Amino acid sequence: RFSTSTTVEELIAPPVEITYTKNLINGHFVDAASGKTFPTYDPRSGEVIAHVAEGNAEDIDRAVSAARKAFDEGPWPKMTAYERSRIMLRFADLIEKHNDEIAALEAWDNGKTYEQAAMLEIPMLARLFRYYAGWADKIHGLTVPADGNYHVQTLHEPIGVAGQIIPWNFPLLMFAWKVGPALACGNTTVLKTAEQTPLSALYVGKLFHEAGLPPGVLNIVSGYGPTAGAALASHMDVDKVAFTGSTGTGKIVLELAARSNLKPVTLELGGKSPFIVCDDADIDKAVEFAHFALFFNQGQCCAAGSRTYVHESVYEEFVAKAKELAMRRVVGDPFKTGVEQGPQIDSEQFKRILKYIRSGIESNATLECGGERFGSKGYFIQPTVFSNVKDDMLIAQDEIFGPVQSILKFKDIDEVIRRANATRYGLTAGVFTKNIDTANTLTRALRAGTVWVNCFNVFDAAVPYGGYKMSGIGREKGIYSLTNYLEVKAVVTPLENPAW
Ligand code: NAD
Repeated sequence: RFSTSTTVEELIAPPVEITYTKNLINGHFVDAASGKTFPTYDPRSGEVIAHVAEGNAEDIDRAVSAARKAFDEGPWPKMTAYERSRIMLRFADLIEKHNDEIAALEAWDNGKTYEQAAMLEIPMLARLFRYYAGWADKIHGLTVPADGNYHVQTLHEPIGVAGQIIPWNFPLLMFAWKVGPALACGNTTVLKTAEQTPLSALYVGKLFHEAGLPPGVLNIVSGYGPTAGAALASHMDVDKVAFTGSTGTGKIVLELAARSNLKPVTLELGGKSPFIVCDDADIDKAVEFAHFALFFNQGQCCAAGSRTYVHESVYEEFVAKAKELAMRRVVGDPFKTGVEQGPQIDSEQFKRILKYIRSGIESNATLECGGERFGSKGYFIQPTVFSNVKDDMLIAQDEIFGPVQSILKFKDIDEVIRRANATRYGLTAGVFTKNIDTANTLTRALRAGTVWVNCFNVFDAAVPYGGYKMSGIGREKGIYSLTNYLEVKAVVTPLENPAW
């Protein structure tokens, strides 16, 4: 039996009005060129929340023209970095001021809990913009000691118009990871939000303009991937494209960029991250973190620790405790206090996850708990735990992107390193051990962009994030993210009087 503090049959009315549904181009909210709209749904019920302007190639073209003009004519790249920084800081203040409305929009459109949005994600959104505001006036080149009588310096210049395509799982955090570094470096941008979650970006886009952002610097187009997204990735006047989403779509974006103007591409893609629990780990802590690593955000995290490898000597204890924790997870209306898990994003993901659960059962993994939908409406899924999972099962290989924990057994460190790395992905990894030597061995051996030791899901603004192998190209956040949005110009001048 699952504990629940609410019934999902009676839903709480979200405490926010929908104000902005049009595309934000050149500082104005405008209808789609075609006049078309598309619905965005409440994942708690499958009902329509709002109809949103449906951008396509023509809208992308208008947005790119606005961004081009704002880049070429300024004032954004030409104003002092300090002024840019101050606008970004004012934006962060406005985010804080409107924290609760923004959080309500995010929870409504996505299905994540209001508490998670209000207490974690929206404060993090403000934090990210303050972090990037801090970089704006600290970007500078080098003086290079070249052979010969030359004065050589490098200028770090904005790359131009950025095209940015984001997914639905963390709509505003993905907004910040993309828009923050692009604008700090003096670029202008066209952002294509995910069709499942267009609302919150439009709301904060309005706030950014209230903070003093000049028109054309940030343009936001809602719409579908193969139309609006593809038009952005293949646009001849876009200088760089940044994408977060599935590995399959990442390949398409890279190809579109190559076939058009060879714009540089950064990609943040999927994962199938190992979470390794050694025999000397604090088991209760490891169980708790493994649960958090997988179930956070309804399991819809690229970082999710979705292959939980547990040492054979503690396996039975771990499985029993992981099952107990999953069964205690509170599923329900994400607007209700105390609810830990809301619905999945949409009917497509909902069906996909249930299909993976069936595949786990059919391949003879042991279903410890869950396995079915929760309630009778919306896209809720019971927290599900499988034990006795083998590496070759589909649930251990594919990204499920849902509340399905797979627990595997291992005997020794070399074996678990080999198995953990035997995947096309390389995004994150978790390691639980009290032995410093084991920790050092694992952190170096695991082929992943992030290794969390005795912790998980630490997403600080300053810490770089990105994938090895098919989990992506490039890094976001931290100092590393700036290089994605800068060109380096070498300036060489002869020295007239080499004696000096
Ligand atoms: P998706 O690839 O379907 O969509 C992501 C974005 O790409 C959306 O805005 C979509 O409209 C757009 N898109 C779709 N087709 C396109 C095309 N042909 N051309 C251009 N744009 C196109 O992914 P999703 O299902 O929305 O998101 C889930 C995936 O994202 C998961 O695989 C997850 O691992 C990944 N993800 C990765 C990270 C990371 O940082 N590595 C973060 C979040 C999500």
